[in-house]
Amino acid sequence: MNMIPPVPGGTQRQQELVRRDLAHLWHPCTQMKDHESLPLIPIRRGEGVWLEDCEGRRYLDAISSWWVNLFGHTCPRIAGAIAEQAGELEQVILAGFTHEGAVRLAERLADLAPGPLSRCFFADNGSSAVEVALKMSFHYWRNTGRPEKRRFVNLSNSYHGETLGALAVGDVALYKETYAPLLMEVFTAPSPDCYLREPGADWEEHSRRMLGPMRGLLERHHREVCAVIVEPLVQCAGNMRMYHPAYLAGLRALCDEYGVHLIADEIAVGFGRTGTLFACEQAGIAPDFLCLSKGLTGGFLPLSVTLTTEEVYQAFYDDYENLTAFLHSHSYTGNALGCAAANATLDIFDDEPVLERNRELAARMRSAVAPLEDHPHVAEVRQTGMILAIEMARDRETREPYPWQERRGLAVYRHGLERGVLLRPLGNVVYFMPPYVITPEEIELMAQVAMEGIDRATSAPGEGP
Ligand code: PMP
Repeated sequence: MNMIPPVPGGTQRQQELVRRDLAHLWHPCTQMKDHESLPLIPIRRGEGVWLEDCEGRRYLDAISSWWVNLFGHTCPRIAGAIAEQAGELEQVILAGFTHEGAVRLAERLADLAPGPLSRCFFADNGSSAVEVALKMSFHYWRNTGRPEKRRFVNLSNSYHGETLGALAVGDVALYKETYAPLLMEVFTAPSPDCYLREPGADWEEHSRRMLGPMRGLLERHHREVCAVIVEPLVQCAGNMRMYHPAYLAGLRALCDEYGVHLIADEIAVGFGRTGTLFACEQAGIAPDFLCLSKGLTGGFLPLSVTLTTEEVYQAFYDDYENLTAFLHSHSYTGNALGCAAANATLDIFDDEPVLERNRELAARMRSAVAPLEDHPHVAEVRQTGMILAIEMARDRETREPYPWQERRGLAVYRHGLERGVLLRPLGNVVYFMPPYVITPEEIELMAQVAMEGIDRATSAPGEGP
C-alpha cells in the first residue's frame, strides 16, 4: 500500500519534529523513556483509514485513533460541516445562551437513544461525561430525600476514564492503583467477562451467572448505593473483554428491584461499534444515564454528552433558593464546532446504511483471522460487531498469560509500524476497531500484519527484563 513517494527532505523534517516534540511534550499513557528506543511518529495528514507521516509512509489506523474515528480521517462531510460552522459561530457560553447545533443535536440524541432518555448534558470528553453521571445520580438521590445513597457499584476490569471520580469507578489496576489513596471507595461485582467462563459454558450462561454476585451485593448495600456503572457488552480498556447482552437485561431488572440507577458508559462502544447504534439496544434496555463521546463527533473534536431521563431532570427543577440545581460546568460545554461535527456524523448514519455495511465488514474481519483459531499462542479470538480481539497466551489450553513484563503486545505494535498498520495492543490482546470506511482489501492487510506480528511476538523471548 505504501505507494506515496517519499517527501523530499522528509527524513530530516521528521527527525527534527521528533527532536522538538521530545524536548517539550509529555505524551498520554506513555512511559516517555520508551521513546529512547521506540519511534515516535509525526503524522502530517490523514485520509480514510490511512495516516501519513512526514516521510510519506502510511499507516492503516486499525484502532480508529483511540476508538474515536468512525468515517475515516478528514471525512469530507464532517470536515465541511466544521468549516462552515467555524465561519458562523465557533463557541458560545451555554449557560444563559444556546445555539441551533446544540439544540438539534440534543433532539436527535434523545430520539436515537433507547427508552426515555430525553435530557442531554454536554461536556467535552468522556471522563467528564462519567463525572456528570456520577454527580447527577448522587445529587438526584439527595434532592429526593435519600442522601445516604452515596456509593457506586462497578464491575471488575472496568474502565471509565482518568479523572479522579471516573478512575475511582474503574477497576484496571494499571491505571488506578497508584492513585488509590485519592479515590472514593466503590463496591466491585465480578465482571460477566466471557473469557473467564468455565470450559463448556456458553456466553449467555456465563454472563447470566455473574448476575448472582451482583444481586448479593445490591441486596446487602442498596440502601447506600446511588448507581451501578458498566460498559455495555465490551470492556474495552480492560483488554476488550466481552459479555452477553443477557447480563445487561438482568442488571436493569436488578437495579429496578433494588432502587439504584444504571449508568451505561457507551463512550467506547456507542455509535455502532457493537453492531447496533448503542450496545444497550441488544439487551432491549435503557439505562438511567447514558454517557457518550469518542465517535459522537466522528473522531474530529472533543465533545461528550450524558443523557438522562425526565424523571431525573425534574428532581433538580425547582426554585433557585431551594438549591437543587446541577451547578456543574465546563468552559467548552456544547461547543458549536463539536456539535456541528456530531450533527454531520449523525447525518451520515441517517443517509447511509452504516450498520448494514458494518455487518459485512465484521464478518470479513472474522474470516480474515480464521487461521488464528488454532494458533498455539492464541487462547481466544472474540468479536462483538466491529470490535475483534485476539488474546495471546503462553499456553492456549491452560490460558496461562504471558507475564506483562515481556510486553508481547509491544512486539506486535513494532511489527505493525514496520508493515504500515497502526495496531496498539492492550497487554496481550491484539484488537481491531477500525473506521467504518475500511475496505475488504484493507481488512485483509490489517489481519495479515496482525497475524505476522503475533507469530513474531510469540516466537521470540519477549522484550522485558
Ligand atoms: N469510558 C470508556 C468506556 C472509555 O473507553 C474511555 C476512553 N478510553 C473513557 C470513558 C474516557 O474518555 P476520555 O478519554 O475522553 O476522557
